[in-house]
Amino acid sequence: MDKNIKLPETEEGTVLFKTDPIIIKHHYEVDYLHSYAQDSPFFAGLANRKLLGSRCGACAITYATPRGHCMECGGATEWVELPQSGRVHTYTTCHFGGEAFLKETPFTLVLVEFDGVDTLFLSRLLGAEGDEVSIGMPVRARFLRNSKFKATDVYFVPA
Ligand SMILES: [Zn+2]
Repeated sequence: MDKNIKLPETEEGTVLFKTDPIIIKHHYEVDYLHSYAQDSPFFAGLANRKLLGSRCGACAITYATPRGHCMECGGATEWVELPQSGRVHTYTTCHFGGEAFLKETPFTLVLVEFDGVDTLFLSRLLGAEGDEVSIGMPVRARFLRNSKFKATDVYFVPA
């Protein structure tokens, strides 16, 4: 039996950001094919500068974040176009975020309320931060000109 069995050593090192706790740089990348399935109309709507929600055919609850079936009664929903102007229901400033948003911190997230819609819509607010943002503040939707077919294709600005 060879007691000198070893993994090969490599010469590249590890980028060490911190020692307590140890934080290293680790490259991670993956191409992921993601189906929006029944949610596809929402993302197609964003590409066409429309905000689509859903309304229950049975009890008429209208969801700003679309759902295939009603959370209250279980009825099937239909797609409806939402208003593009609303009000800040609440907001928060994010000083940390996922990798996609890290470079943009701090940024403001808002829950937007719309007339005639029963639930809130989570989005980014640009053009106002900190004390400039207030509950009830009128906001309107803006859309990326070059759609990425992602929820971040829409964001809000002061109206
Ligand atoms: Zn319902």
